[in-house]
Amino acid sequence: MPMYELIPTEAVTEVEATSFVGGHPHLPSTLALPTCAKCEEPLTFFYQVAFPEGHPWAPRSLAVFACTSTWHPDDLIPPLLPQRRDVVVPEGFLNSYQTTFRLLVFPTRTAVLREDYVPRVQFMAWRLDQARSVAVTKSKVGGEPTWCMGRENPASYAGRPLVFLMQLAGHFAFERLPGALPMARDPQFARLLPPSPRYDLFVGNVVYLWGTNDEGPEAVYALVQRP
Ligand SMILES: [Zn+2]
Repeated sequence: MPMYELIPTEAVTEVEATSFVGGHPHLPSTLALPTCAKCEEPLTFFYQVAFPEGHPWAPRSLAVFACTSTWHPDDLIPPLLPQRRDVVVPEGFLNSYQTTFRLLVFPTRTAVLREDYVPRVQFMAWRLDQARSVAVTKSKVGGEPTWCMGRENPASYAGRPLVFLMQLAGHFAFERLPGALPMARDPQFARLLPPSPRYDLFVGNVVYLWGTNDEGPEAVYALVQRP
């Protein structure tokens, strides 16, 4: 499977972009904007990618949302299973684990710019450049994951095969737009620190995403490692 590095580009506008950070998400018009299952606030749109031809998930897109409104100390990262390397993800896990975040999957051609979403993160388009290897400090689609804490490829999801979707670099800078509320932080420290000009996705960890690779309904498995 070809591997593509995600490279920032200014050559693509927010209307044209299919892989990008921030701004308005492009989603099917029938899809509701996601809200947090814990605090019910609208989730913040972080980024989306359109899987290119040759990737098993083409021609689909994946959009990533997470809660920035409330400090959820027990839900800072996607729930992790006790065993991670070669794990068989148990049946149902991927239907219920998305509480303070949501990973939306849809056919790329059905997506429209969602004017009903109020952007919080600065827009930046990505282009996908085919690459033989991509450093762990970079983001990519397809190929094989680049681990920073050792290999944790999952085996399957309840007997269904999984394919590597993409990896987001750690400490990724999601620039907060003027007027958007700062990310909620630990109230113990929030008073002592100036508001951050950025949002963090899963506390700045490296994000690894897998998807089911069969004819059934798509499910996404997310895990993180400390950069
Ligand atoms: Zn929340």
